[in-house]
Amino acid sequence: PFEPLASDFYSYESLLDDRERAAIAELREWLEAEVRPVINGYWERAEFPTQFVKPLADLGVLSYAWDETRPFPNSAVFRGFVAMELARVDASIATFVGVQNGLVTGALSRCGSDEQRAEWIPKLASGELVGAFGLTEPLSGSDSAQGLRTTATRDGDEWVLTGAKRWIGNATFSDLTIIWAKDVEDGHVKGFIVPTSTPGYSATKIEGKISLRPVQNADITLDHVRVPESLRLQRADSFRDTASVLRLTRAEVAWAAVGTAIGAYEAAVRYAGERVQFGRTIGSHQLIQDLLVKCLGNITASIGMVVRVSELLDAGEQRDEHSALAKAYATSRMRETVAWAREAMGGNGIVLDHDAARFFADAEALYSYEGTREMNTLIVGRKITGTAAFV
Ligand code: FAD
Repeated sequence: PFEPLASDFYSYESLLDDRERAAIAELREWLEAEVRPVINGYWERAEFPTQFVKPLADLGVLSYAWDETRPFPNSAVFRGFVAMELARVDASIATFVGVQNGLVTGALSRCGSDEQRAEWIPKLASGELVGAFGLTEPLSGSDSAQGLRTTATRDGDEWVLTGAKRWIGNATFSDLTIIWAKDVEDGHVKGFIVPTSTPGYSATKIEGKISLRPVQNADITLDHVRVPESLRLQRADSFRDTASVLRLTRAEVAWAAVGTAIGAYEAAVRYAGERVQFGRTIGSHQLIQDLLVKCLGNITASIGMVVRVSELLDAGEQRDEHSALAKAYATSRMRETVAWAREAMGGNGIVLDHDAARFFADAEALYSYEGTREMNTLIVGRKITGTAAFV
């Protein structure tokens, strides 16, 4: 049965219908039983729990966005609550899903031909294949709209891809990676479905991360990687198409940021009810209550924003600046919230056992990936002033 979250203070979950609430309850139960007890160990060892891919698929989480055969339509609001629920237990699992089901399936769905969609999406939704999304490069992060160095050269019925990618999530164990590269002839960015077994493709894990440690981010080298024209995303003609995928996933990162904030806040509330100092639980001290209330204020304001941005998407009215504002705002409030939650737990706030430390560290990656706060701010600034400050 579905239990409302105390941290959803204004009952936004009441926007979900009974079937959606049942799906969230099922997901929540699985996350609490299977993920929460073991995830800190995976975090410490910087390993991804690959055994969770199949159960996530079985729960429907890898097909919520795009599988039109599911028995109920998946609204953006519902998908947002799924992202929030995942991140509330672990932001790395939420990130895995965001890559597999958001970026990769999203790119295929928006930019692939009917044949490409039919061939690849069901295998990603069932967890049979794992995907990665390769846009960022060693020399091009925020400026990837114009700065990509990876090239695509047409050679008869094939394309030759050469270059390097950096930070690519899931890429150490993905079966396919969507590679975005600049066509040397027309200068436009095009997308390619690259099976990772293709000669010339290699991926090396980025070591030493202090955030989202279970997520396997990789440096990719593309040394004359040959793919047939049939693996070029047929409806991706320019970076505009890449950006249309990012607009959707950015809004889901905003939801995941709210989930991350909630995860830290709930850990702090639990701790404040148990830890005794000066003869009383710390939760009965005024200044700890102040920290908890500030956290709840941030969470409540952010949920209102992400719900609305998803409603705009469901209504076909979401624009780049809408998701950019939600991502910049929700991740900023998340960053404050995880720090206050950690603070409320004193020394135990910085050890993994009490959960807040993991959310605190993971917040940093969410704050910077899929467009940094600065870049998302500039997208909104362009809308307000009519002037792009970043070209
Ligand atoms: P830079 O672009 O070098 O930016 C450095 C700083 O300069 C930032 O603060 C930025 O905001 C600021 N800055 C840059 N330009 C301006 C400007 N014009 N005005 C003001 N400030 C500016 N990418 C993928 O393609 N696929 C993935 O799966 C993926 N997963 C990721 C997972 C993690 C954990 C991380 C950390 C990153 C991931 N990324 C991925 C890459 C991510 O999207 C980039 O890190 C991000 O876009 C920022 O690029 P950058 O790191 O190169 O920073």
